[in-house]
Amino acid sequence: GAAVRFTGVRRVHRGGTVALDGVDLAVPHGSIFGVIGHSGAGKSTLIRMVNALDRPTTGTVEVDGVDLHWLSGDELRAAQKRTGMVFQQFNLLETVSVRDNVAMPLRLDGVRAAEARRRAADALEFVGLGSMADRRPRELSGGQRQRVGIARAIVRNPRVLLCDEATSALDPTTTAQVLQLIARINEEYGTTVLVVTHEMDVIKDLCHEVAVMESGRIIEQGSVLDVFVRP
Ligand code: ADP
Ligand code: ADP
Repeated sequence: GAAVRFTGVRRVHRGGTVALDGVDLAVPHGSIFGVIGHSGAGKSTLIRMVNALDRPTTGTVEVDGVDLHWLSGDELRAAQKRTGMVFQQFNLLETVSVRDNVAMPLRLDGVRAAEARRRAADALEFVGLGSMADRRPRELSGGQRQRVGIARAIVRNPRVLLCDEATSALDPTTTAQVLQLIARINEEYGTTVLVVTHEMDVIKDLCHEVAVMESGRIIEQGSVLDVFVRP
């Protein structure tokens, strides 16, 4: 089975906008899968569904074979733990330390403080920010802030890492470093990575497979070499 599977997914937002118009998608376990499209194509709606932040009007979304639609509150929270999300604008809490930002998902899960802090320190070490744990986010550069966002996304050891325009706010050099870090998470932990972006370079530099979205539909899909390089 796939790590993430969309079957016939349609999403009509309040107000009647059709954000997804019959999406079928299978993200293989262990792959780095990119979805590319212009603004308004439906990418954000799509990736938020994998984290159950949004849900289909019709159709199904499965993560590791579990259909997210019919779950109770506890089951839904368990399913959400299988994913970690990285955001374009980092979404860090400015009033607490870098370490406490990274520890937050664990604390919300009920992990005791000492263990949460230890695991947050490990995640910060992995992203190369071990020495920044006591700083506040505002003291860090954009690239460092995004690495904190990535540490927070992997601290629960998710099966699927979700990246929503994760490098769109960063300059090219910083982007390259963040993409390398995401690739290293995929290689070292076997984490499946689902990326949505409007940037072709992100697809070419990071992804194995790609789906092209337009007006809520996938208009082309395949290996990055077949879709963008060979033709
Ligand atoms: P993308 O991430 O590719 O820019 P989105 O999924 O954000 O695309 O948006 C797809 C379409 O759905 C757009 O027309 C957008 O305005 C609309 N849309 C997205 N979220 C909402 C929402 N919560 N309520 C109403 N319309 C929305
Ligand atoms: P809307 O009223 O905006 O059309 P819904 O009624 O489909 O949207 O509700 C979407 C909200 O439901 C999301 O904020 C999500 O957090 C929540 N939700 C509750 N249970 C689920 C679930 N099993 N799968 C996905 N989202 C869920």
